[in-house]
Amino acid sequence: MKSTTSSLIETRRDQILPVLDVGDIERVRRFGSLRSFAAGEALVKAGDVGRGLSIVLEGKIESVHKNLAGQQGPIVTQGPGGFLGELAQLAGRPALVDAYALEPVKALVISPDRLRALLIAEAELGERIMRALILRRVGLLESGAGGPVIIGRADDGDVLRLEDFLRRNSHPRQTLDPDTDAGAKALIERFHVDPGQLPIVLCPQGQLLRNPSEDELARCLGLVGPIDANRIYDVAIVGAGPAGLAAAVYAGSEGLSVLVLDCRARGGQAGASARIENYLGFPTGISGNALMARAANQAQKFGVEMAIPDEVAGLEVADEVSPKRFVLKLSNNERACARAIVIASGARYRRLALPNLDSFESSSVHYWVSPLEGKLCSRQEVALVGGGNSAGQAIVYLASHAARIRLIIRGSDLATSMSRYLVDRISGLPNVEVLTRTQVTGLEGSNEVLQAIRWRQAGAAEEVRRELRHLFLFIGAEPNTDWLAGSGVALDPKGFVLTGPDAGGNRRQLETTRPGIFAIGDVRSGSWLCKN
Ligand SMILES: Cc1cc2nc3c(=O)[nH]c(=O)nc-3n(C[C@H](O)[C@H](O)[C@H](O)COP(=O)(O)OP(=O)(O)OC[C@H]3O[C@@H](n4cnc5c(N)ncnc54)[C@H](O)[C@@H]3O)c2cc1C
Repeated sequence: MKSTTSSLIETRRDQILPVLDVGDIERVRRFGSLRSFAAGEALVKAGDVGRGLSIVLEGKIESVHKNLAGQQGPIVTQGPGGFLGELAQLAGRPALVDAYALEPVKALVISPDRLRALLIAEAELGERIMRALILRRVGLLESGAGGPVIIGRADDGDVLRLEDFLRRNSHPRQTLDPDTDAGAKALIERFHVDPGQLPIVLCPQGQLLRNPSEDELARCLGLVGPIDANRIYDVAIVGAGPAGLAAAVYAGSEGLSVLVLDCRARGGQAGASARIENYLGFPTGISGNALMARAANQAQKFGVEMAIPDEVAGLEVADEVSPKRFVLKLSNNERACARAIVIASGARYRRLALPNLDSFESSSVHYWVSPLEGKLCSRQEVALVGGGNSAGQAIVYLASHAARIRLIIRGSDLATSMSRYLVDRISGLPNVEVLTRTQVTGLEGSNEVLQAIRWRQAGAAEEVRRELRHLFLFIGAEPNTDWLAGSGVALDPKGFVLTGPDAGGNRRQLETTRPGIFAIGDVRSGSWLCKN
């Protein structure tokens, strides 16, 4: 465990452990308060919401990580000019590691809100500190130090669900598989856990959770807490996908108080993308999760509060209250109030109703085409389901990579659902075969890799079986707008949110039929997604 953190420290020591000089410390004095710690006293304990960033003025501190047996492993020792903290201290979340004074220590302690003020006011110094906070989290993520331990079989669906939740929210974790790890077996015996009850999760403060929901796990780790229903935020944003996070960064940087709620993880659909190639400023591409982690950190730097996971179940306008405000009702019966609402709840891609579809979604079933998928399908036979324009564009792109494409549509003619120019282009592609009045009936494969698909044409007695590794689904998307029922926000016939001129009444751009409520991203009527 220690070795990965140590190797990152060795390779990027100056950035992870910058030493602030006398001039730097003078500049930041106004943000903190002085504190003394006796030798052996804890500056922070893992699991406790710490005091914030502590800059050592005199003496030495040591950060340590405790393993499940309670043994401590040193992470790093720092002296004057060094500072204690990582992203948890920026967000005001529970600390992931312990830190002790090795000798009498004097420190400048900067609380999370003052730390955010420092990062904005002191741009150059702020950049150095912010980079260190991020890299320290990267080190903890790589080593798993400070996070919960998931015990269960590596291929168990619930283990994968919990790992994915923590990964998407940049929280360190370790997974121990009792089939291969003697330590895991010992822990199962120690806690008297029946193998049928796996996975279990051991949280850093000693709690044991049996196959928890993401919500239970997040609450146990202190990633999400109760929302203050009496506080009125300037803006509440529903959805922490790229649209919601972008709105959060801009609103936060304008000094507004912002709450972002998401029922799953930050990053939305984009967080699931293995490589985003078409985002401005990343010429070599970037994984969706890395891009979204940057966006979330940036939002937190501007003081944006995140409630993840928290599902919004309804929206009310409290007209009787002055000033006028909106109330978001959450599934757990909590409430959040704001003067303006941004709907950024996105859409979910329609899926085929096949029982084992999800087991191939990580590697063989795709809802998107990018150079990465093009490479994956290079000189192979693939199948694509869908007759809309997004399917047509994907086919045209894929045809230059794949050896052969079976385009499967339920209708009897592509032209009824696809623009003429795309129909013409597809008819000119020698490696595309259009299978009309056809439906996929089965998927075969193992270890998350598709080996064959089966389909049947209307009226045909027999299924056709073809060996294929990749299946593309372009069968539309459904907006996540159920929670808007009864809110007075008007939707288009497909359920996407009407905004601007489409919402009538001289609405501002992106404003919905209810003044003060805005919609952005995939959920908005007129977005690229709802047109396909
Ligand atoms: C695998 C994959 C790869 C992709 N690759 C690319 C690419 O390379 N380039 C590109 O341009 N686009 C890509 N896309 C599409 C892109 O991700 C989406 O267009 C984009 O994510 C839409 O952003 P959004 O913020 O509007 O919505 P989303 O990303 O869908 O985010 C909406 C968020 O709202 C949350 N939410 C929904 N309902 C509620 C509720 N009631 N309460 C609380 N939270 C709620 C959801 O959990 C979700 O996190 C890809 C999509 C996928 C799935």
